[in-house]
Formats: sequence, structure tokens, C-alpha cells
Amino acid sequence: MSIDAIKSIEVKLIKVPLAKAVSDAKVITGKQTPLTEVMITLVRIQTEAGYEGLGYTYCKRFGGPAQFSLAKEYAPRLIGEDPNDISRLWYKLLWSSISIGDSGVAVQSITPFDIALWDIKAKRANLSISKLLGQHHTHVPCYNTTGGFLQDSIEEVIDNAKKVLSQGAGGIKIKVGQANYMEDVRRVAALREAIGDDIPIMVDANQQWDVSTALKAGRHLDQFNLVWLEEPVGAHDVEGHHRLSRTLSTPIATGEMLTSFREGLPYLERAAFDVCQLDCPRIGGITPYRKVMERCEEKRLVLAPHYSMEIHLPLTACYNGDVWVEHFEWFEQIGIFNEKVEMKNGMMIVPTRLGIGLSLNEDVSAKYTIETKIIS
Ligand SMILES: [Mg+2]
Repeated sequence: MSIDAIKSIEVKLIKVPLAKAVSDAKVITGKQTPLTEVMITLVRIQTEAGYEGLGYTYCKRFGGPAQFSLAKEYAPRLIGEDPNDISRLWYKLLWSSISIGDSGVAVQSITPFDIALWDIKAKRANLSISKLLGQHHTHVPCYNTTGGFLQDSIEEVIDNAKKVLSQGAGGIKIKVGQANYMEDVRRVAALREAIGDDIPIMVDANQQWDVSTALKAGRHLDQFNLVWLEEPVGAHDVEGHHRLSRTLSTPIATGEMLTSFREGLPYLERAAFDVCQLDCPRIGGITPYRKVMERCEEKRLVLAPHYSMEIHLPLTACYNGDVWVEHFEWFEQIGIFNEKVEMKNGMMIVPTRLGIGLSLNEDVSAKYTIETKIIS
């Protein structure tokens, strides 16, 4: 049996501007500035047998050029390699950069290659990525986040919620985590009153409370039948999340800030959260994310990965348990990919296109590309 070989790799740094700047509690508490753009490092891998794989990683506010720079350094190490051996190539890249660490930007810069290699593997098998991995769901419940940030008044948040629910979203997440948590409680009460008892609502404190404030706020929030309370305390406070999860009736979600499978392990082994939000691009791609899914299934956790709906929709479709996908329309607003996520009756429809099912819109991406490098 003849093997294939990686012939060339294109690496792109793309800046996606947001239609409007958004603020969560990290901005309200003065730790960060409003978010105005998302940076993508995107790769396209070509093989000798004529396959093309696409993958990307991303970051918000900071670090885009660092991810791009590392990706350019990784790419030559894949030339001539068999694209089928994804795990071996993942570890080859990790070991090549091990002196700068085995989490964070080092693995996030492996992500675009890993996703592109899975894209190729699925295309070679003539399958979508969901069918390649084994699919459980054809439709996945989704909730919108982009309308619920803290710079908007509660009246604007309610208008946004009604609009996006009418467009097919199945739930609404709003930001909390303000210094006066009663202000958050009032916003949640107003939203619940406006959209009724049957619409799922999630809240996200973006790490801005300590455990006792989170307990006090959480006891008030318990009355609203929320789907989850997200990042009530610091991202690495496993014990704090564990305590809140065991004390409050509202499920506790966290994991978006963890930057490798290993960073997620203390949460997964202890089931210190109810809803796992580890993010495939942020932890190194599909290869480590499959391990997350296996651990979550063992503990019967809800799988609700943070952000990146284009990548997470086909992956959550493969989870044996309850899932949510987060609806962020930012990439679709400028049309960076030719494909759009289809959302109907509270669900996203799992794509049946081959591979990851994404192709770059050349005209749009040319407008937003900062630099392109081709390695062969
Ligand atoms: Mg969050």
C-alpha cells in the first residue's frame, strides 16, 4: 500500500474585526480592554496524492502573531511526512518545541496542522469528520452569546435575545460577574421575565468572583433554572469550582481558559465541573480533544466547548451524551469561510460535507490577511 506525503503548507495570519467591540466582566473590572478582533492562524496542507486539508487556531486580544510565528516554524517539520500518522506528527511538533512548554501557545500553534490532517483523513475516507469519528447526533442544541455582553443595557440584551431566538438559536447566554452581583441578578431576572420560563439561559462570570461571592450570587441565581453558571471563579481553581458544583443547584461550567489536555485533567478526573468547556483549538486540536471527550463520557459530563462553532459542531456531534454549541456569528459576519452554520428550531444542523467541511473565501480572506507564507 502506497502512502501519501505532505507536499506543501500554506500558513496565513488573518485578522477578523468585530462589527462592534464587546465587554465581559474582565473589562468591567478593569483587567482587559474591550474585544475588537479575533486573530486566526490558518493552514492549508497539500499532499502528493492531491488532498488538501484546512485547519485553524485563533486568539482574542493578544498572541495572534506569536501563534503565526510558531506555526511557520512548525510547518517545515511536516514536509515529506505521511499525513495519516496524525498522533505521531502531533508529538513530533510538540517535542520540537518542548523547551517553550507543552501547553498554551506551543500547542495552540499545533492546532491548525492537527485539524488540517484530520480534514485530510476524513476526505481520503470520503466522509465528513463526524462520520469518520463516529456520529451520535445529527442536530446539536445551540445558544447565542454575542448578544449578552455587559456593554449593552438589559433592554438591548433582551432585544438581541429575541432576535437571535427568532433566527433559530436554542438558548441565550449573558455575561455576569460585576462587582455588585445583585446587578447581575437583576439583569438575569429581567431576561427570564422577558423570554419566559422555557428558554434555556446560561450566565458567564468570566472568573471575576471569589468563591464566597460566587456562592452568594449563585444562591440568588439558583431560582432562575439556569442551564449553567460559567467560570464563577479563577480558571485554575479546581477546588473552588468543585465546591460550587457540589453546593449550588445550578450546574457549573468551566474550561475555556485551559490550554492543554493536561491542564484539563484535574477537572476531568475529579468531575470538578458539570459542564466541560475545554476548547479544541485552544488545547492543540482534535487529537487532544478526543481524549477530553472520552474522559467526559466516563464522568457523564455535559460537553459544551467554548467558541469555534465551525470546529466544535461536527465534534460535539460525536459525543455520547448531552452537548451544546456556542453560536458566535463573528466569522460569518465577514464571510471568511464559504460555508455557514445552519441553525433551526434551537439546533445547529451537523454538516455532511467532506472533512471538516470548511473552505476559505479567497476574496474575503485576501482583504483581512496580514501575512501568508508557503512552505514546501
Ligand atoms: Mg466564557
